[in-house]
Amino acid sequence: MRRWNGWGDDSINYPVPASALSFLNRRVGNGHRPKDISLQEVLGRIPKSRLPRHALVSIDPLSRLLHSRGQSFPNWVDLRTGQLNTFPDGVAYPISNLDVVDLIRYALHAGVHIIPYGGGTSVVGHIDPIKSNAPVLSIDMSRMNCLINLNTQSLLATFNAGVIGPDLEAQLRAHGFTLGHFPQSFEYSTLGGWVATRSSGQQSMRYGRIEKLFAGGRMETPLGELILPSFPASAAGPDMREMVLGSEGRLGIITEACVRITPIPEREEFHAVFFPDFQHGIEAVQQILSSGLQLSMLRLSTAKETTTTLALAGHENLIRALERLLSIRGLGENKCMLLLGFCGKSILVRTNRSEALNITSKLDGVHIGKTFGEQWHKNRFKTPYLRNTLWEMGYGIDTLETAIDWGKTPQMVDQIEAALLNSMDDYGEKVHVFTHLSHVYPCGSSVYTTILFRLAHEPEETLIRWRAMKSAACQAIIALHGTISHQHGIGIDHKAYLEAEKGALGVAALSTLFRRFDPKGIMNPGKLVA
Ligand SMILES: Cc1cc2nc3c(=O)[nH]c(=O)nc-3n(C[C@H](O)[C@H](O)[C@H](O)COP(=O)(O)OP(=O)(O)OC[C@H]3O[C@@H](n4cnc5c(N)ncnc54)[C@H](O)[C@@H]3O)c2cc1C
Repeated sequence: MRRWNGWGDDSINYPVPASALSFLNRRVGNGHRPKDISLQEVLGRIPKSRLPRHALVSIDPLSRLLHSRGQSFPNWVDLRTGQLNTFPDGVAYPISNLDVVDLIRYALHAGVHIIPYGGGTSVVGHIDPIKSNAPVLSIDMSRMNCLINLNTQSLLATFNAGVIGPDLEAQLRAHGFTLGHFPQSFEYSTLGGWVATRSSGQQSMRYGRIEKLFAGGRMETPLGELILPSFPASAAGPDMREMVLGSEGRLGIITEACVRITPIPEREEFHAVFFPDFQHGIEAVQQILSSGLQLSMLRLSTAKETTTTLALAGHENLIRALERLLSIRGLGENKCMLLLGFCGKSILVRTNRSEALNITSKLDGVHIGKTFGEQWHKNRFKTPYLRNTLWEMGYGIDTLETAIDWGKTPQMVDQIEAALLNSMDDYGEKVHVFTHLSHVYPCGSSVYTTILFRLAHEPEETLIRWRAMKSAACQAIIALHGTISHQHGIGIDHKAYLEAEKGALGVAALSTLFRRFDPKGIMNPGKLVA
């Protein structure tokens, strides 16, 4: 069963080896295990629903609790410690377009606010109910999860938008195809959620981000239906899909999405190469990008992330042997790991791999084969389970991300990390910060930073510290003119920084657009823009 106050299935755990715990102790100090609130206690605090009756709406307290928060760090604090003070008043599970239309009509008539709910994996407060006099209805799309049409000639597949990653892939793979969209939240996040947040999958280098994969679809808005036909290309004015991508539930409910699919690749490989330092790694990545080789992934860790990954990996004998080998090859504590992914026809995989490894070896990279890369691939959806274990040991973990052109990428890494480290000085606390470049483009890179810190004795204090770190990192991003989000979206947590990126006119234009489709302002108010 899915955890109500953590990540993932409650039968899956991610143990942390003793050596990793002592690594953490040395970096940030001993964790204080906070007292979690019990499910019964939270259920007892849920206020009476304010919703008028409707056949499709459940006011069951457990359903309301399960739809009350996503996966942001403040959401974790709320759910673990019982800080919650807002809940949806009810949850509906539509099974058809007609149900969605009916629910929107009901909400308009009764003055109800709607929060479209995909998989609830938002990490920026997208689905948190805002305090309001209006009742709140969460519309959970999980029962709209079928493959509606598969067009193998045009390589297009249309799904109901509530389909989660594994079910979408299984339905395509049964016919020999893949979407190739693998965000780390794959296990629970949905196609509609990916479109509504402009998500990016781990192999976006080959398959593209969701905006490339999203060919068209159907959205129900308070003013009626918006149909987005899927053309191979069109010059008919601005592309209406761009209004829907990243709309974060403000425009309407995506009920169907047509996506561009690819035949399952014949071969897939993941390799690891270690460089003497970050600069060598960046040079290798840039040369690979400009060589026109086809890869599915390049992920370059800084020295600190490399050390942390090796420390948390377990398998101590294997890691010791690897460290010995790298040290013989002259790589010391500044070493940085690059993961490379290849997929496609076997012959092309072989050529691309050998050319890419030629480039890395000319830049002093040490290729250690496939074991590490394949381990990463195997565990890539398991790593979020570490959040549960760390919380139980008294540690918080969160991630931040941006994207910026190559000229400023190393500076962005340094400035985000420095801002985070400094932000804890006033609290006499330490934060362990490490970064990787996860999605690379010819013109620049995403920068993905992880923070590990101790939870305070009181949840309010934990949140104060988290806000100080979050704000320091966001200010650093804005100061260097990076995007406030490469893949997580805006929601509540990034809303204050959107104007720095889009300008006052841009933000006002977005608000006007949402009002045009939703004059009464019932769709996910308080998120993305005012
Ligand atoms: C452990 C973890 C790892 C993650 N890794 C990645 C990653 O690798 N890449 C990445 O891009 N993101 C990642 N995320 C963030 C998150 O998974 C994405 O934002 C995802 O796209 C959200 O999808 P969801 O279905 O869970 O949407 P939800 O969280 O349910 O909703 C997100 C927003 O989309 C809206 N929405 C959802 N469905 C619809 C619909 N049908 N119609 C209209 N609006 C809708 C909601 O109203 C809300 O505003 C990660 C999150 C976690 C917790």
